[in-house]
Amino acid sequence: MSVSATDISIKKVENSRLSQVDFSNIQFGKIYSDHMLICNYEDGQWKQPEIMPFHNLTLSPATTFFHYGQAIFEGIKAYKGPDGEPLIFRPRDNWRRFNKSAVRMAMPEIPEDIFIEGLKALIKLDENWIPATEDTALYIRPFMVATDEFIGVKTAEKFSFMIITSPAGPYYSKPVSIYVQDQYVRAFPGGIGFTKAAGNYGMSMYPTQEIKKMGYDQILWTDGFEHKYVQEIGTMNVFFVIGDTVITPDIKHDTILAGVTRDSVLALLREKGMKVEERTLSIDEIADAYKAGELKEAFGTGTAASIAPIASLTYHDVTMQLPPVETWETANYLKKTLANIRYGRVADTHNWVVKA
Ligand SMILES: *Cc1c(COP(=O)(O)O)cnc(C)c1O
Repeated sequence: MSVSATDISIKKVENSRLSQVDFSNIQFGKIYSDHMLICNYEDGQWKQPEIMPFHNLTLSPATTFFHYGQAIFEGIKAYKGPDGEPLIFRPRDNWRRFNKSAVRMAMPEIPEDIFIEGLKALIKLDENWIPATEDTALYIRPFMVATDEFIGVKTAEKFSFMIITSPAGPYYSKPVSIYVQDQYVRAFPGGIGFTKAAGNYGMSMYPTQEIKKMGYDQILWTDGFEHKYVQEIGTMNVFFVIGDTVITPDIKHDTILAGVTRDSVLALLREKGMKVEERTLSIDEIADAYKAGELKEAFGTGTAASIAPIASLTYHDVTMQLPPVETWETANYLKKTLANIRYGRVADTHNWVVKA
């Protein structure tokens, strides 16, 4: 089936909730825009996508994703351009990744048209929900769940794809303190670490709650066998500047989420002619670099947080304190350059920005 924007049925709200929103004080993920998109999959095919008022769902308690977790999602942002137009950052990369997650979770792939044209139509309709100040955007959450009403264990046959959107401010207000986790494991080869599956987050809640009690913000996960090769942080990929080289863990073992921000950062660094390495990186190597005074910067990358500087890394009883963020050339360059591209302030030479 090929869907075009004209195939999407649109039912608008009678009264927008927009005037009730305090855009000067937006908390991440607390309020949702007027409309949502929903598209169901049944009898082996995708049905007509519908945009309708944001509303609660009615589901049987036997709905399969409640029990067996066939659930995946994406995270994308739309920014307000110089003339107020919505600019969506690299949504086709999210669409491709969504389908990789879908295949691994035995869920149907979604055609590009439904995902991209649906997204564009939804953003266009709710464009006044995109906040306009620096460091703000409209966060876009596409997701898919299995909706068979059946509690026997089998792969589902019915699915719902939905998109909701939420005005978003800065994710972290200050540099994050990180706990290097070598007891609990996030991902291992053959698993689902490379997918944006709900289960990856479900399993992380307990270990994250434990380290928050100890005063840390997020976990840096290590590999599932030796517990010493760093993978990624909570919702972000991770970069280290050691000496004059920028190093990030490689993604070839399918244990790390291939971030769109990660990919953008790598492209920008290579363009600038910086030394960049994607490879296995052990926590011991990071600790040695720290001791030698060579650990210059460490930061997370992700759609929600953009570039999130790391204040400190704690591994067992050693805390590595990073230098003050103001002095970091790489992270600050990336943050500024990414923002300029996303808000449409410079030419989009990479074709990363899609107009709604
Ligand atoms: C979403 C996500 C990221 C960041 O990916 P982006 O495409 O840059 O937003 C990194 N790690 C995990 C586990 C994620 O779920």
